[in-house]
Amino acid sequence: MTRKLTCIECPKGCSLSVKVKDGVAAAVSGQMCPKGKLYASREVENPLRTLTSGVLAQGLPFAMVPVKTDRPIPKGALLEAMDKIKKLKITKRVHIGDVVVRDFLGLGVNLVVTREFFVKDQ
Ligand code: SF4
Repeated sequence: MTRKLTCIECPKGCSLSVKVKDGVAAAVSGQMCPKGKLYASREVENPLRTLTSGVLAQGLPFAMVPVKTDRPIPKGALLEAMDKIKKLKITKRVHIGDVVVRDFLGLGVNLVVTREFFVKDQ
């Protein structure tokens, strides 16, 4: 089977053609640099995504706190991660970079705050 992908590692966006055999990227063509082959292999064999979302704020002057995983997680874990995030609440002031959940879902990544709230936000 051949899969067509667009490399997202840089703005050139090379069109990649990936021959997939037994779930493995056996051959990659179309890349203009070695990153394309790595991207294609990862995308076929274990696609990862950085999850960005918002956690409900309770008792704070804002409704939601934007968060993201500090590293990409397996694409297959995104729905479970969103379910978990929906159940979270932040009840005290946080700052950009603060860890909301350490070792999120046991994936070895942290869920962190992505925005600083200044006095004028209150
Ligand atoms: S293969 Fe290399 S040049 Fe092409 S989009 Fe990916 S990173 Fe950029």
